[in-house]
Amino acid sequence: MEIKDIKQQLSIGEVLSLYGLQPDKYHRVLCSFHPDKTPSLQLYPKTNTYLCFSSSCNAGIGDVIKFIQLIEKCSTHEYFTTNPATYHISTSQIFRVKPK
Ligand SMILES: [Zn+2]
Repeated sequence: MEIKDIKQQLSIGEVLSLYGLQPDKYHRVLCSFHPDKTPSLQLYPKTNTYLCFSSSCNAGIGDVIKFIQLIEKCSTHEYFTTNPATYHISTSQIFRVKPK
C-alpha cells in the first residue's frame, strides 16, 4: 500500500468521518483547523479534495493526504510508519496500510 493507493481508495468524506466529522447535505463540515461556527470546510467528492473558505485558516485547499498531515501534525509517511496497524475503512473493504 502506497500513498497514491491510499489516495485512490480513501474518500475525503470517509477520512473526515474517521475523525468524527460528518458532512452536511452541501458537503460541508466545521473546519478542524480554525475556530469555526458555521461549516466552512467544503468537500469536493468528485475530485476528492477540500477547501476551507476562511482566509485566516491554514488548511487552504488539499486532498486526503494533506488533511491527514494537518490533523495528525506529521507527514503522512511518518503517520503510517509509526501506526502500521492503523486500519482505514474504504467504501468496499477494510484494508491495512503497510509501511514501505
Ligand atoms: Zn479552516
